Amino acid sequence: MKTHILGFPSIGKRRELKQALESFWKGALSKEELLATIAQLKKRHWNIQKEAGLDYVVTGDFSFYDRTLDLIFAIGAIPPRFAPLANADALERYFAMARGDAKRNIAAMEMTKWFDTNYHYIVPEIDANAQWTPSAHSIIEDTRLAKSLGFNPKPALIGPFTFLALARTTDNFDRYLRLDSVAAFYADLVKTLAQTSDLIQIEEPILCSEALSNEAAKRFGEIYASLGAAAGKTKLALTTYFGSLGRNLDLAVKSGCAWLHIDLLRGAARFDDVLASLPRETSLSLGLVNGRNIWRTDYAKALKLIEKAVSKLGEDRVALGSSCSLAHSPVDLDDESALPKSIKDRMAFAVQKCAEIVELKEIVARGDKAALARNQAVFENAAKDTDIYNASVRDRAANITPDMLERKSPYAKRREAQSVLNLPLLPTTTIGSFPQTAAIRKVRLAYKKGEISEAEYVAAIKRETKDCVDKQERLGLDVFAHGESERNDMVEYFGQQLGGFCFTQNGWVQSYGSRCVKPPVIYADVYRKAPMTIEWITYAQSLTQKPMKGMLTGPITILCWSFAREDLERSEVCKQIALAIRDEVADLEKAGVKIIQIDEAALREGMPLTVAEAQIYLKWAIDSFRLASSGVKDETQIHSHMCYSEFNSILDWIAKMDADVISIESSRSGMTLLSAFTDFNYPSEVGPGVYDIHSPRVPSTEEIADLLRKALRYIPKDRLWVNPDCGLKTRGWDEAYQSLENMVAAAKLVRSELS
Ligand code: GLN
Ligand code: ZN
Repeated sequence: MKTHILGFPSIGKRRELKQALESFWKGALSKEELLATIAQLKKRHWNIQKEAGLDYVVTGDFSFYDRTLDLIFAIGAIPPRFAPLANADALERYFAMARGDAKRNIAAMEMTKWFDTNYHYIVPEIDANAQWTPSAHSIIEDTRLAKSLGFNPKPALIGPFTFLALARTTDNFDRYLRLDSVAAFYADLVKTLAQTSDLIQIEEPILCSEALSNEAAKRFGEIYASLGAAAGKTKLALTTYFGSLGRNLDLAVKSGCAWLHIDLLRGAARFDDVLASLPRETSLSLGLVNGRNIWRTDYAKALKLIEKAVSKLGEDRVALGSSCSLAHSPVDLDDESALPKSIKDRMAFAVQKCAEIVELKEIVARGDKAALARNQAVFENAAKDTDIYNASVRDRAANITPDMLERKSPYAKRREAQSVLNLPLLPTTTIGSFPQTAAIRKVRLAYKKGEISEAEYVAAIKRETKDCVDKQERLGLDVFAHGESERNDMVEYFGQQLGGFCFTQNGWVQSYGSRCVKPPVIYADVYRKAPMTIEWITYAQSLTQKPMKGMLTGPITILCWSFAREDLERSEVCKQIALAIRDEVADLEKAGVKIIQIDEAALREGMPLTVAEAQIYLKWAIDSFRLASSGVKDETQIHSHMCYSEFNSILDWIAKMDADVISIESSRSGMTLLSAFTDFNYPSEVGPGVYDIHSPRVPSTEEIADLLRKALRYIPKDRLWVNPDCGLKTRGWDEAYQSLENMVAAAKLVRSELS
């Protein structure tokens, strides 16, 4: 049985990649120094895999910024707006595509979330006719280097179908018309890589979704046959992850590739079907060690799956691996010195996951009973841990009644009750956070380091909050937010106050480029220890006559942006969080807060890849939101905010959230999302974002007014809100203030046209 992982995190255990990139961008690090750091990281990661005893080390998993961008770059699918950089240094051009070029005023390429993860990839932009001039892919040099250093490299590439399926077509042509030129590029690349490697990983996670068109599916076998021919004696590992092979099972097993890799954490449902239909000459790689979480693998469960595969296929045709790339998990658990032992014992980060895969093989090969017993003890201890199990939380979650998911009255009736808010037509508001100034960051750091007292910290944040309220007063916004300056992060802030959470010191994962996140860990039953936001909100409300929104992060988002426990269903964990938020909502209402916003920024990204699984997810996710939000009086207005523009297919689910007002991203797509509102009669109020907060550009009044006029074609005037796309935390005050000024002016202008 061969052992391998699908990829190792690029960032480095001390986030060396982040530091090196950011210094390089600032001009504080030379190109040579950057390249040296990167070379060191790659070697270190290969060494980790080799020393763990894995049969292969992965190449092509490392990227300066993003693997999809590496492909775009090598294929030569460079959008025309980067033409002024045609003669620039290749690295400069590459980073310009990733981050934009301020000097030349060229916008960066778009980023979006990689399937249902919190990782952002660069979206390929393709059109029907552009000439592509391929260049050498960095994977070739990396693979040669690994080989020359004595490693056994397995190059890993995102496959041609996934690449095209994820692309954005600029002129709405059939993207698969580009399939031949993409396939020719891959064939060349595979041929070159085959000179140095006996196995090449080609990833087609798109096969776990329903996104492949019928036309594309028809060509799958033929394209893979051509890649197989290019590979010669080298084996291709058709690699799938993030779901099960449903509709595309046949394509996957008949691809002609020597290996098929399946994700048994997310895709176990079709395991038997895969085993039954796998051709004789194909080996099956089992994704057993979770690449997306931080917990140890339950060997007893994994061994059952291995035994099943071995008894059907024989040991030679079975390989053991990670479910997906380990890029979605932090690097090394050994660096954690503050975690309680009982929790740390249960965890495995990337380094430990490599060892687990090898250990599993040894248990099978040598019947190593001690290793199995050690592993099982961890799970047995966890099951007995009274810290994890909270009887009152379990009791409450088991006794949720249907009425707890229902507001007292339907929207139409609530609307009348909410007229006490006395809002004008097209009410203006923001999504919550205001610029996180250098001053705020300084105060927070000083407090964290113990340089200032809690009282001093609170006083400083109160000054920021007051400043933010004053500015909103001057701007003339209708509904205020307190600015969230006391929050470092919208999930961490709540995680720190809830029971059942703990935090790592170095558990970073890449979110995009040099940006990393350190998700909180949900290790036990979740409960609210005490009110979490009331003081801040009531303080902010005391400064103004305008309604101040109570700001909460919703249960789905807290779940999706944390490392959740694996011994309890995600839907159950979500329910526990929802109960905690429900209590906070009740306390806000009691404190006199009239509008409560519960953000569900992650709702869309958490959606599984297939329609059937997505329906199951949406059902419990929306129920959790309703559980969190429905305990209030009719007069209390519930808002929710979501960060994504592709809502068209789930607008009916969003309606089922039964929020009084939702705000969604839409300015970047020129309000095209609104067309969904013609097909679906959305019942309540909507604030489609009228300007893009991801850019420092200040939109003009006329531009925003135009978007509002456009929105009015889809949304009745008494149900339209006016707000930016998302929170303003990453912006500077200058641009934020001017943009909001123009937004308020645009709302007034359009109001006057309506009356
Ligand atoms: N209320 C949050 C903010 O304004 C929402 C952020 C988000 O949607 N990601 O920052
Ligand atoms: Zn948002």
